[in-house]
Amino acid sequence: MPNIVVLGSGMAGFGAAYRLHAEGITPMIYEESGYHGGHTASFRYNSGFLYDIGPHISFTKDTRIQDLFADSVDQKYETVQINLNNYWNGYWPRHPVQLHLHGLPEDVIVRVIADFVEERQAPERAMRNYEDWLLASFGRTFAELFPMKYTRKYHLTTADNMSIDWLGPRIYRPSLEEMLRGALSSSSPHVHYITNFRYPTEGGFVSYLKKFVPMGNLKLNHEMVSLDPLARQIRFANGVQTNYDALVSSVPLPDLVRMIRGVPHDVLEASQRLACSTCVLVNFGVGREDLSSAHMSYFYDEDICFTRLSFPHMLSARNVPRGTGSIQAEVYFSDKYKPMTGSPEDWIDPVLRDLRRCGLLRDDDRILFRNAMLVRYANVIFDLERKTALETVHGYLEDVGIGYCGRYGEWGYLWTDEVFKSGESVAQKVLDRIR
Ligand SMILES: Cc1cc2nc3c(=O)[nH]c(=O)nc-3n(C[C@H](O)[C@H](O)[C@H](O)COP(=O)(O)OP(=O)(O)OC[C@H]3O[C@@H](n4cnc5c(N)ncnc54)[C@H](O)[C@@H]3O)c2cc1C
Repeated sequence: MPNIVVLGSGMAGFGAAYRLHAEGITPMIYEESGYHGGHTASFRYNSGFLYDIGPHISFTKDTRIQDLFADSVDQKYETVQINLNNYWNGYWPRHPVQLHLHGLPEDVIVRVIADFVEERQAPERAMRNYEDWLLASFGRTFAELFPMKYTRKYHLTTADNMSIDWLGPRIYRPSLEEMLRGALSSSSPHVHYITNFRYPTEGGFVSYLKKFVPMGNLKLNHEMVSLDPLARQIRFANGVQTNYDALVSSVPLPDLVRMIRGVPHDVLEASQRLACSTCVLVNFGVGREDLSSAHMSYFYDEDICFTRLSFPHMLSARNVPRGTGSIQAEVYFSDKYKPMTGSPEDWIDPVLRDLRRCGLLRDDDRILFRNAMLVRYANVIFDLERKTALETVHGYLEDVGIGYCGRYGEWGYLWTDEVFKSGESVAQKVLDRIR
């Protein structure tokens, strides 16, 4: 049996294990944390409140992955029609705002539509960056009031410093008719790329991994600290050392590259130019469940510290004690663009203050639970340096035979179904090579 090592026990690591298991191979999986799941881990606290690492829902349209996840939880999952909204200057437009201008101040609607029409009649723009794309898609007023503001809060840089190769179906480009209908009436159609989602009934999102865990020989508390691709040898912080015939890594590229013995300077330097956001998650358990009608809300205003809110009790009622509700706020930073200040716990009070300011929490609400979590790698930032830096790093990893996969190995905007498949396909590559 070839000795195949998988680094990381997130969805990508288990995608690789699943593919190898189908060939009768049980890989060693090394995980730095004391729990499995990576970004899909879930934590239930003594108070009875459960939180995932950021809001996690499965909205894959791939029926094979849907079936695999459903099997993993013995068909016990919730199917939910998604409801999303936005908070902007005291208004709560539905999502996406470009289709739901109804209810916003009249002069804003007029300026948005006038600019939108003017942009349609203007000569075509060169698409040098995301800002160009936003201006061409929506006109200046809408672009500046909504997506360009959100970009600074979520991607931590400006739209003119971002590429457009991450967009896919993420941002809807309306026709004039759709925009007008959404301005005149409160009932315009749902066009978001997520219409409904599934979520495990019990145990949080990590339950989707249940049946995959036995497919690898999982070693927790094994933080890789150095990797010698010539000797095919790995060392861990706990003193353990191991060799491998083939390696699949889902470790974030800047960390992985730093650990490689003899890595050329230009590769190291390129890996350090890769930008990612860091997220502080602030969780609250509240003494009532009617906190919001939306599963997620997006926040544009600069004086509100969080960028997005979600409500775990609306994903599965078993995520909270009966009769209570829960909130998870995301506050974003980036080492490259907006370094974090203070400790994660320092954000609990500001988040609480802003939840009250926007009216989601009342002064007399009972706060039954509160904590803060740090997510060191959250969303890859598609700045203009990413593409060339990534080509250098990936090219080198291929030269030295290190298989990379997952959101932080591919360094892309991948969802759980995509990283699972990314793990599978790297495992397949490894199989093709060693056979
Ligand atoms: C806020 C947020 C919300 C999201 N919401 C959704 C959603 O709703 N739906 C969806 O489908 N996707 C969502 N995603 C994306 C999803 O979380 C990722 O695509 C997926 O979990 C990434 O899996 P992965 O295996 O590639 O990486 P990870 O889950 O990060 O796995 C990598 C593993 O490697 C381990 N590791 C790192 N360094 C070392 C080392 N030196 N030694 C050993 N082990 C190491 C880590 O501990 C980790 O367990 C969201 C992501 C974020 C940040």
